[in-house]
Amino acid sequence: MQPKLLSLIIPVYYEEEVLPTSYQRMDSVMRSIGLPYEILYINDGSRDGTMRILRDLAKAHPEVKVFSFSRNFGHQIAVTCGMDHAKGDAMIIIDADLQDPPELIPKMVQMWQEGADIVYGKRLQRKGETLFKKLTAAVYYRVLSSMSAYPIPLDTGDFRLLDRKVANVFLKMREKARFLRGMSAWMGFEAVPLEYVREERAAGHTKYTLKKMLSLAADGILNFSATPLELPLFFGVALGVLGVLGAIAMIVCTAVFGTACPQWLWLAVGFSFLLAVLFGFQGIQGFYLGRMYDELKDRPLYILAEELNTDR
Ligand code: UDP
Ligand code: MG
Repeated sequence: MQPKLLSLIIPVYYEEEVLPTSYQRMDSVMRSIGLPYEILYINDGSRDGTMRILRDLAKAHPEVKVFSFSRNFGHQIAVTCGMDHAKGDAMIIIDADLQDPPELIPKMVQMWQEGADIVYGKRLQRKGETLFKKLTAAVYYRVLSSMSAYPIPLDTGDFRLLDRKVANVFLKMREKARFLRGMSAWMGFEAVPLEYVREERAAGHTKYTLKKMLSLAADGILNFSATPLELPLFFGVALGVLGVLGAIAMIVCTAVFGTACPQWLWLAVGFSFLLAVLFGFQGIQGFYLGRMYDELKDRPLYILAEELNTDR
């Protein structure tokens, strides 16, 4: 039997400062595992010296494969490109900046050999990140998991190992707005956390601008929760209840007390009912839209984790 091949997938965007050290550390860790490996670099449209370094690496080391985008397509797409081209029996996704320590990879591989389909890095602590980033990330992941139908583990990033069978399902999901950690949660499989302390960037600065972060955050919520689309229905129902209460108040004051209702109550009840109908129908449209969106994403109906006594 052929020994298992490992594929290390590394998206890079303006990483000339960190790449040389990063390659050295990644390569020596991969070598220490004792299995054949390939390292796939995806240049996500960097215009600095990144490509020059990658060309030199590829020339010197046949196991280094390089894919270079025509422009910046974004981190999640770069990782997808790496997975498209990886040949390994397991794929490990890691950032170039050494924030996720490559020294954890042998442990991930061991957990995979012991049967885990997905081993995901779970951040116990994030060093060298701004309080703003830590705080927004902590709140975001908690909001997301409360909204998502498929629990996305808290405090995880894209640092993870995927078995080939998981990666194959992944590659069938061609949705354009990609939120990999959510897709991974949606797929299921035997996912095991590996806790670690996220280090400071070894060199350079973050390539995730606020705009990129917000857009990723939006992809996470919009792709994994239909709640925002359905919200108007809840407003509609709440306003309907308010309208009914107002109507009861009107009946009580005319029938029981025999006094004329104040003008504003008529108006308030009328408005409540009108808005209840509008919001209600908008919410119902949201349900249909959510369904259409689901159909458009065209994810597989089901995913087999195992088959026994079948012909295949
Ligand atoms: N990256 C990328 N395309 C982008 C932004 C980032 O390929 O548009 C890469 C980057 O080179 C790094 C990884 O994605 O290897 C994570 O980016 P970064 O470290 O800047 O994000 P942070 O850790 O600050 O969230
Ligand atoms: Mg980083």
